Amino acid sequence: MKPLIVANWKMNPLSQKAASQLFNSLKRNLKNIKKAEVVICPPFVYLATSDKRQVTGLKLGAQNCFWQEKGAFTGEISPQMLKDLAVNYVILGHSERRQIMGETDEMVNKKIREVLKLNLQPIVCIGETEEERKREETFQILKREIKEGFKGVPKSQMSKVVIAYEPIWAIGTGNPCSADDALTAILFIRKVISQIFSIKAAKKIRILYGGSIDSQNAGDYLGQEGINGLLVGGASLNPKEFLKIVTLHL
Ligand code: PEP
Repeated sequence: MKPLIVANWKMNPLSQKAASQLFNSLKRNLKNIKKAEVVICPPFVYLATSDKRQVTGLKLGAQNCFWQEKGAFTGEISPQMLKDLAVNYVILGHSERRQIMGETDEMVNKKIREVLKLNLQPIVCIGETEEERKREETFQILKREIKEGFKGVPKSQMSKVVIAYEPIWAIGTGNPCSADDALTAILFIRKVISQIFSIKAAKKIRILYGGSIDSQNAGDYLGQEGINGLLVGGASLNPKEFLKIVTLHL
């Protein structure tokens, strides 16, 4: 299985010109990359101009979407619109959306089901806060987010799902979760998937680690057999750094 490396630009950069420069620099340098699948997730407004054609292994992702196909939902983006822009992946349930925008497990669940219906691949973020970790509730939180988030998702669809284990205390803090602890959480996530769905589904599903990844520490995670790739935030805005993450350790 090729590692999956996802760049989450979040609400950056601030102009079309800067977004094009960033995207084109990655596109140029990733031209012949075959050892990894790379997904760039820019803000919605830059998706249309991020042309990934002619680059093997480079795909586009969105950072969110709505759970309805169309209608009176001011300010929302339909997964069907994303499909029309040749987007392959959609990040769902990112902790910034859960914490700042108040997204619940139920909302994340509706989005996952709609995205899968359209044959897009959800990258579902789950993870515990620092307080929850201190209270030793990590496994409980992960189990709840999986159970509620994937409620009603057919077993046959699970191979299209990607899960990102993103401990909230590690995101944007420069304090990553150790590779050993990330692996323990990811093995637990796989076990829960096998209990709810099947061993086959648990084997097929790709589970990434995300949280303060940079070119120095990426290899620690990519070297673990149970970790199928990385979700990279801040470091993905620096093309040199992101290219090192993608190429150095593969
Ligand atoms: C993220 O945005 O999902 C993330 C992991 O951010 P960072 O790499 O900046 O911690």
